[in-house]
Amino acid sequence: LTQLFRPLDLLGMVYRTIRQGVTDMGSMFDLIDTPTEVRDAPHAPALAVSQGHVRFEDVRFGYDPERPILKGIDIDVPAGTTLAVVGPSGAGKSTLARLLFRFYDPTGGRITIDGQDIARVRQDSLRAAIGIVPQDTVLFNDTVGYNIAYGRAGATADEIAAAARGAAIAPFIQGLPDGYDTRVGERGLKLSGGEKQRVAIARTLLKNPPVLILDEATSALDSRTEAEILSTLEAIEQGRTTIVIAHRLSTVVHADRIVVLEAGQVVESGTHGELLRKNGVYAEMWARQAAEREEALAAA
Ligand code: ATP
Repeated sequence: LTQLFRPLDLLGMVYRTIRQGVTDMGSMFDLIDTPTEVRDAPHAPALAVSQGHVRFEDVRFGYDPERPILKGIDIDVPAGTTLAVVGPSGAGKSTLARLLFRFYDPTGGRITIDGQDIARVRQDSLRAAIGIVPQDTVLFNDTVGYNIAYGRAGATADEIAAAARGAAIAPFIQGLPDGYDTRVGERGLKLSGGEKQRVAIARTLLKNPPVLILDEATSALDSRTEAEILSTLEAIEQGRTTIVIAHRLSTVVHADRIVVLEAGQVVESGTHGELLRKNGVYAEMWARQAAEREEALAAA
């Protein structure tokens, strides 16, 4: 599966982070090709977020001009609501998120936040407004406290601890040999997938962005960890405009709206209930995943 935020080698990531002033691990991007340089227009103003209303208006895009990936996407995400994007592998779900973070500019149409075209505002102001919880969080070889504080430069120890509590990882950290000073990452303590995701959630709580992109983990978490993470994610979605790139349908049931993307087009949209009643693509995906879950339970 193509991952939205596949870890690049650390050096490349640090370079991009410094160069672009991106205060988000979401800068670790799935770069098959080097993206076309996206530059600020001279004297571009800063994005002014009042509500966090996100709109994709007839958005068209292809990594290669010969091969369109997004073919005229219209999606409206009212401020403070949660939109889930589902669809088969390769449909363009992660590409939508990459365009919102402005790793690329659309070749047609536009994306707006509170009415401002994101291609016409300063990139640093755009990226400061968007938080990303990636599929795979790569931790710095530093302390767990530093890894959380990366969400916002200058955060105090109290703020870091509050974010850890919000992400339901504080008791775990308190149980570590050196608490928040315990070194983690490749050369320190290895955290599980669920623990790393919670560090990413704590980081995002500290950043407190009005717009949030969640790239749901495809890797199987055990059902208890998954339930815990789901409730934490629901907590951070409160009061923010959230776009969830979903791989498992069980996690999108609560979304205010779900769009089904297929081959770069929105083929269905609605709430979970509405889409089930339509008896179309979504209902079929739902039935298939439910059957898979039952098989897995039967085999266990
Ligand atoms: P998945 O569920 O597998 O993560 P997706 O719906 O998120 O899939 P995208 O990652 O958006 O799909 O990819 C859409 C298409 O764009 C795919 O055909 C993919 O091969 C292609 N693609 C993705 N990234 C690049 C890139 N950097 N350069 C060229 N093609 C790319």
